[in-house]
Amino acid sequence: MERLLYINGIWKPADSHEWFEVDNPATEEVIARVARGDAVDIAQAVAAAKNAFDGWRWTAANARAEMLHEIAHLARAHFDELVSLLTEEEGKPRGENVEEMEWVATTFDYYAEMGRNVRGRVIPSNERSQLNLVIKEPYGVVGCIVPWNFPLLLLAWKIAPALAAGNTVVIKPSEMTPLATLRFVELCCAHLPAGVVNVVTGFADAGEALVQHPDVPVIAFTGSVATGQKIATLAAPMMKHLHLELGGKDAFVLGPDADLDSAVEAVAYAALINAGQVCTSSERVYVPDHLHDQFAGGVADFVRSLKLGAGQEPDTDIGPMIGASYRQKVAHHVEQARQAGAKVLTGGQIPARRGYFYEPAVLVNVNHAMPIMSEETFGPAIPIMRYESFEEAIRLVNDSKYGLGATLRSNDPKLVKRFFEEVKAGTIWINDPLTDNYAGPFGGMKMTGGGRELGEEGLLTFMETKHVHWDFADERKGWWYPYGRDEG
Ligand code: NAD
Repeated sequence: MERLLYINGIWKPADSHEWFEVDNPATEEVIARVARGDAVDIAQAVAAAKNAFDGWRWTAANARAEMLHEIAHLARAHFDELVSLLTEEEGKPRGENVEEMEWVATTFDYYAEMGRNVRGRVIPSNERSQLNLVIKEPYGVVGCIVPWNFPLLLLAWKIAPALAAGNTVVIKPSEMTPLATLRFVELCCAHLPAGVVNVVTGFADAGEALVQHPDVPVIAFTGSVATGQKIATLAAPMMKHLHLELGGKDAFVLGPDADLDSAVEAVAYAALINAGQVCTSSERVYVPDHLHDQFAGGVADFVRSLKLGAGQEPDTDIGPMIGASYRQKVAHHVEQARQAGAKVLTGGQIPARRGYFYEPAVLVNVNHAMPIMSEETFGPAIPIMRYESFEEAIRLVNDSKYGLGATLRSNDPKLVKRFFEEVKAGTIWINDPLTDNYAGPFGGMKMTGGGRELGEEGLLTFMETKHVHWDFADERKGWWYPYGRDEG
């Protein structure tokens, strides 16, 4: 299969006529050749998006809303094909991709409606002859740079609100998962005016060209802290608006009152969904001293019962990782911990089969000096640490440079309130980890970056604020020059 760039409503090869290959992480087989876009193609895509901006911006709000609902409708109509593509190129189990596609369609419906509701507000004026308006308006061309772990979901969280706000977009998908994005745009966005949505596939150089292009005032980026820092540095001289959703090291805390059986399953889900390759994966688990041994043993037994396999296989619980270097990082974290005294209760091995599989590891005797408790692991590992008091648990949760999410399993209202008030993270889950609500903003604190997607915040991110002070009285004001004028 060969896939092309989408610029100004036309499918075309890269200007350089270069290509790159995409593989299936469950088999390591090449499944497509994709046009390798670079700065030249980015310039063409930005020019198309800039050209389309005025038309899109002034499209009647209800017509724009209908076009966004149509994207949702088409996403549902082509559901199975897109789910299959996601499963093939990204690797996670099909059921997880079904969920991803449901969220994608919902996102477009949600912002289709919100987009025609939000235009700003009227504020009280100082004089009766005046009208003061706070206007929200689109920026222009939004550059959307997307990672591979939820290729369509994280795309939808950017382009649905950006388009609803009246911006046009240039998308740079991950080089590891461009296929679902290209097909989604082909199947679901063809009815949009040419240039409103453009896709340039490629690597970091294409992303940097987008970040540095003078006609792209906003960059919406989800990815690693290292790339986010690079983007922020490149964008600073041009004072661009950055929307950064970066890495995490989410904590999962078991309250002293928690039910152990359900907590075991909750932690396995929170740590291992998408083979632990979720920015909000629970990557460190804190357990009261008196529950520690029973809980850790229960988690190890439960994890041992989960089935590793290709995402297409119906009974697969955990798919492959996205690539060899990502698997290497998890293996390295586990090995470093083991050498520093951690005990691996189960997993932590690379199975003898094709595909980037890794047996989920459950570890105890870990501490914060180990990278597995301080750096983002982004893979199937569950390090479990004991705590003595709830104060200590909160201190450990906050002892991290990241601040994306945190989970508490407890129904003790005093502990719950302390947890959501004292933990420094953008999302707090009580008992139900990793569940999103489209009306609730999603994003991080600290090194995770301050961006917010979803909710009204997710739309306002793509709108610029203007204050209009309008005075109907055509008169000279007493405070104008010359100051010495005799008013008598
Ligand atoms: P990555 O930073 O390597 O790449 C993300 C995207 O940026 C890709 O499209 C890549 O091609 C592009 N890119 C790479 N270098 C670039 C550069 N110099 N300039 C511009 N673009 C560049 O991240 P990844 O490995 O694809 O994704 C995993 C990371 O994403 C993890 O750290 C994870 O925590 C994070 N993530 C965060 C969230 C969130 O909402 N906070 C959600 C999902 C993933």
